[in-house]
Amino acid sequence: MKLIFVHLFILLAAEQIRSSPTRRLEQFAFEKYLTRARAVLDRVPLIDGHNDFPMSLRDFARNQVGELDINDLTTLEPWASSSSSHTDINRLHTGKVGAQFWSAYVGCTTQYKDAISKTWEQIDVVHRMVEANPTTFEFVTSAQGIENAFSQGKIGSLIGVEGGHSIDSSLAVLRMMYDMGVRYMTMTHSCATPWADNSQVDNPGGVAVHDGLTPFGKTVVAEMNRLGMLIDLSHVSRKTMRDALETSTAPVIFSHSSAYALCNNTRNVPDDILQLVVANGGVVMVNFFPSFVTCSSTATVQDVANHMDHIRNVAGVDHIGIGADYNGITEVPVGLKDVSEYPNLFAELLARGWAEADLEKIAGLNLLRVLRGAEAVRDQMAADGVKPFDEWIPQADLPAESLPCSTGQIKSVKLTTE
Ligand SMILES: [Zn+2]
Repeated sequence: MKLIFVHLFILLAAEQIRSSPTRRLEQFAFEKYLTRARAVLDRVPLIDGHNDFPMSLRDFARNQVGELDINDLTTLEPWASSSSSHTDINRLHTGKVGAQFWSAYVGCTTQYKDAISKTWEQIDVVHRMVEANPTTFEFVTSAQGIENAFSQGKIGSLIGVEGGHSIDSSLAVLRMMYDMGVRYMTMTHSCATPWADNSQVDNPGGVAVHDGLTPFGKTVVAEMNRLGMLIDLSHVSRKTMRDALETSTAPVIFSHSSAYALCNNTRNVPDDILQLVVANGGVVMVNFFPSFVTCSSTATVQDVANHMDHIRNVAGVDHIGIGADYNGITEVPVGLKDVSEYPNLFAELLARGWAEADLEKIAGLNLLRVLRGAEAVRDQMAADGVKPFDEWIPQADLPAESLPCSTGQIKSVKLTTE
């Protein structure tokens, strides 16, 4: 009973605020910005760099996507009561999502064990989700593909592999994943690979394993350039960022990272690296997770817009994108509660005086430019006759913990002509 009175009081107070003249005026102004924001997202595809929906398909549905109606997951358990369920088809449409990099993620505990097979399962589930919902999704692998799908009113669906441990230090596996449509690989997740350091080494007390990329790690970058697979530097250490930016001849991405200057979490991008991203021509796709936005458990759409403002000031509008990290995060900003609310961010930027042409860039044109850049490098390397990099990682680079589940590398055989 007492609770009912409290509720009534809150409702009345909220109504009071809502109907005050200034509040009504603000609401009216915001609605106008929202209408303009939606019109922008009708013109250019909103391309989000990172969504962990495939992970929830694994965790909640054992990847049985053929049995699952993913149009509305707001009332279906366990999705309905999960704090990490931010995505379904209805909400993707409301949020005007134009293309999505779906994350093929398997945790670091799989490293040196079943990382490859589990990653293949996540790649497979994205393919099957797309095939099961052909009026909504279209599987795409290129900038042109994104544009074509968008012009047909479909959500271009791409795959990013999140974590270099997923290739088990094998360039052959990397190539096969490219062939199955993977268009970016995050160089690490929260563990070092035998060839790259992750962001945790930059935390207090953290110790670098390799001091960035090893020579083999640089070969991984070169092979990704040759394939036309984007190098994703979210989750890596600063030195790995520097080494990759120095090595890569193609523009890189940060698929889901925000600005370190506003929240000093090592998952974010420091200003000196932002400068290097400018020279590289890449894009930082801003993460919405409050832990990375405000370094706390709460945030608002305005806080996320602050990161956009900061990156624009330091690097320019050509290097900003969106990588919300929905379904991978447990808290969300007020005003950006799930994939249905992206337009609020664009409305907020319009209210701050951003031009519509700038919104078009951060929505998708920047990412399209970066992907086209990587495709051009791929084509040039092919024209130059660059062959696949086919060396194996040196046996000495593999840590002892990798050995129990490995049969080891084949001994080299001396070929004779007799
Ligand atoms: Zn991540």
